[in-house]
Amino acid sequence: MTRWPMVVLALALAGAAGAQNVKITPLGTHAGELCDRDRATLFEDPTGVRILYDAGASVTGSDDPRLGAVHVVLLSHAHGDHMGDQRLKGQGAGTCARPELVSAAPHSTTAEIAAAKNSALLMMIPMASFLGRKVENIRGKPAPACPQTGGALVAPLAEPCLAGVHIGGAQRVRTADAGSAVEITAVTAAHESTVSRSLLSDPERKSLEPDNVSLTLGPSGGYVIRFTNGLVVYLSGDTGLHAEMKSIVADYHKANLMMLNLGPNAVTMHSAAYAVNEFVRPAAVIASHPNEAATAGGKVREGSRMAAFVAGVTGRPVHMALSGRTMEFDGGAKCVAGCQ
Ligand SMILES: [Zn+2]
Ligand SMILES: [Zn+2]
Repeated sequence: MTRWPMVVLALALAGAAGAQNVKITPLGTHAGELCDRDRATLFEDPTGVRILYDAGASVTGSDDPRLGAVHVVLLSHAHGDHMGDQRLKGQGAGTCARPELVSAAPHSTTAEIAAAKNSALLMMIPMASFLGRKVENIRGKPAPACPQTGGALVAPLAEPCLAGVHIGGAQRVRTADAGSAVEITAVTAAHESTVSRSLLSDPERKSLEPDNVSLTLGPSGGYVIRFTNGLVVYLSGDTGLHAEMKSIVADYHKANLMMLNLGPNAVTMHSAAYAVNEFVRPAAVIASHPNEAATAGGKVREGSRMAAFVAGVTGRPVHMALSGRTMEFDGGAKCVAGCQ
């Protein structure tokens, strides 16, 4: 009996395992840095499903060459810095602390990208309806509900479509030749979801102005994405500390990688670190949405709020979401390439 077949099998498995990484690429305003307005992040499953999370204002729009194929556009809430009421004027425009942005009205970067890339708009139903109308305005025909095949959306899609969810609801997405699907579940965020008035039609905007009130598009949310290699990513969205981080995200979903938004009007660096250490307890953290120039030369700036957050996290690595740097994670949330 030769032992070669076992060796060949082992090598084949090792090769397959090597390819089973999820690629995560932040699309920020300044290459190699984590900057004030950075939100947009691309996720690519080993099967090829590509998900854009919170397009926001750190992309130039649907023509941004960093985007490539986008099968799913995820949106956490309606705030302009996430839906994209503004766009980046050009790669590296302005400074890391104050990037140069221009209006993306009337459509938003999210609607433009979904329209151009034939993406599923996966988000709370009121936001999907709102952006679906914008996609219709861009393309001249309504965006239908996304077709389901065997309980999943099959990427690439033939046209932009609506995949609405409520908190707790899930959508599954797979590529045509893949045996398994990526599962995306909406989870709670402690935040609100008012839409920028610049994205409203004239009559709607004028009706809100006298009382200085805003329109809310359903609840704000986060997401848990279960990738086909076993990686379970928790996207916090903008949120304060809340108990479901522990009960739903950690205990039920067993998220092992957390992408945390660090906007200071929702969390202190102390409560953010507490969410990581005590509630979610992931194997690793990606820091995003810093609302400051968090890095200089790709390193955390001394004296920054980010530095205080990193100092407060114990027992797991904190990876900076550096623009344009692709990080690769295995099923256990170990960064196997592209992290510092
Ligand atoms: Zn917000
Ligand atoms: Zn925000």
